[in-house]
Amino acid sequence: MKGLMQDTPLLISGLLRHAAMAHPRRQITSRLVDEPTWRYDYLGLEQRAAQAAHMLQRMGIKAGDRVSSLGWNTHRHMELMFAVPGIGAILHTANPRLTDEQIIYTIEHAESSVVFYERSFAGLVDRIAPLLPNIRHYIMLSDSDRTIVGSVGAQSSESLLAQEISHFEWPKFDEGCAAFLCYTSGTTGNPKGVLYSHRSTVLHAMASSLTSAFALDVFDCIMPCSSFYHATGWGLPFAGALNGCAFALPCDRMDAASLHELVIEEGVTFTCGVPTIWTMFLDYLDRHTKSTGSLQRIVIGGSAVPRAMAEAFDRIHGVKVLQLWGMTELNPVGVVATPTPAIAAQGEKHVDEIIWTRQGRMQFGVELQITDDNGNALPHDGETSGTLKVRGPWTIKRYFRAKNDAVDADDWFDTGDIATIDADGYLRITDRAKDVIKSGGEWISSIDIENIVAGMPDIKIAAVIGVYHPKWEERPVLVIERHDGSELSMDSVQSHLAPLIAKWWMPDRIIFDHVPLTSTGKIDKKALRQRYVGCLDA
Ligand code: ADP
Repeated sequence: MKGLMQDTPLLISGLLRHAAMAHPRRQITSRLVDEPTWRYDYLGLEQRAAQAAHMLQRMGIKAGDRVSSLGWNTHRHMELMFAVPGIGAILHTANPRLTDEQIIYTIEHAESSVVFYERSFAGLVDRIAPLLPNIRHYIMLSDSDRTIVGSVGAQSSESLLAQEISHFEWPKFDEGCAAFLCYTSGTTGNPKGVLYSHRSTVLHAMASSLTSAFALDVFDCIMPCSSFYHATGWGLPFAGALNGCAFALPCDRMDAASLHELVIEEGVTFTCGVPTIWTMFLDYLDRHTKSTGSLQRIVIGGSAVPRAMAEAFDRIHGVKVLQLWGMTELNPVGVVATPTPAIAAQGEKHVDEIIWTRQGRMQFGVELQITDDNGNALPHDGETSGTLKVRGPWTIKRYFRAKNDAVDADDWFDTGDIATIDADGYLRITDRAKDVIKSGGEWISSIDIENIVAGMPDIKIAAVIGVYHPKWEERPVLVIERHDGSELSMDSVQSHLAPLIAKWWMPDRIIFDHVPLTSTGKIDKKALRQRYVGCLDA
């Protein structure tokens, strides 16, 4: 027997409508590429998204069509994030930090017919356009005075919007329809497309708002520092609209001084991003003895959060760090590190220990499992590590245009991570399967060593990679990027590590060098492995 409640579909336009009705005056501030800061509210957002919806329809975009964006974290990009799925089309948030070949690949693979792009990408678009024969329109996210027409003859988004009315009847359709297309960064092979549905995105927005996760509410002002093209900004535009949070959008200015200024000027309470951003932010606070103003919480994820980082934010600045483990294939939130009564009952020190050293705890909507090489489930004892698998309503089923499912017969998706889970449901990632170091038949966790080194002063980034060794198969090599002016020595790194790791975990070499980052700001271990190939051969 079916329930007798309404089947209202969970749609992205529902989030926008709600924000505009319930929180019409809540402010959205956006920095822009060489234009003055933009200020409006949710009412304005809905009106301009409505204009964008008319503009898209005038261009002939229909339900199911793909539209690509090369955008920063701005209000114009956010309007597209509501308008494109609002009319039933699909927004492919292209990653401008990929190589030209990869960007072309993703836009072609998406079969987009329109590209919206920031003025900063005029050169990029001129380069790639000749290789994108199916694009019918290039629209620059810019006012008409500043639009650079370039070889693609771009139109200005503002002059197109100005022709449209600011009311739109958002259509109702099946919540299972696709809303966004995000590509993984393609560190191995071509990027793979993950097709978020309206349903997965709305459920994810609801779940990530909970107190077990981000604990968002209407008093928050969010400064999203995960790029809007990285797992579509970690879902924050949607969770923010659902809660009526204010927004302070940083555009492309993610350097510490600009972010700090935005926090202070706009009263930011909540922010997020990968650890590399927050290492620089902490260093900036220290060097300039700056306060963190109204900032209360930072969600940090995408790679392991060094304990020292969480501790410094909490102890010195009174800002809570919420570690997040997630991935593009997950919309992207998997687990978030928040306490439970069972942990709290063991005292504040224990809470810190757990919260600062675990990736997070189980959240409703993401089932977790660890398995051995034969696929057998392993115990949740906090000790046994295995391959991490996930499933749930915002976990991928199949990559876009793939012939086969990406999950097993029971819907489990193999994350490619190695993890432990403890009896209270806390997850600890020990490594990515491809980064774990296999030395003499045993495993060394690169994350554990990086975490310890990151706790030393003067460390900007610490990266540990496995390098071929004639006797042991692989041995760890530690590459450190120091803060400017640092005189940290190899001896002091060794003496710091020695009492904290097993003797055979000690890196065979410690190298001071620049550490390359991926297109989403994580340590590029593939590039490091290539750089140091053969460095232990002698
Ligand atoms: P990419 O493959 O481009 O890095 P994702 O952002 O989807 O794309 O990366 C997901 C991966 O990032 C996870 O599978 C995991 O290896 C890593 N990761 C994410 N968050 C954390 C975290 N808090 N700690 C350790 N690793 C993490």
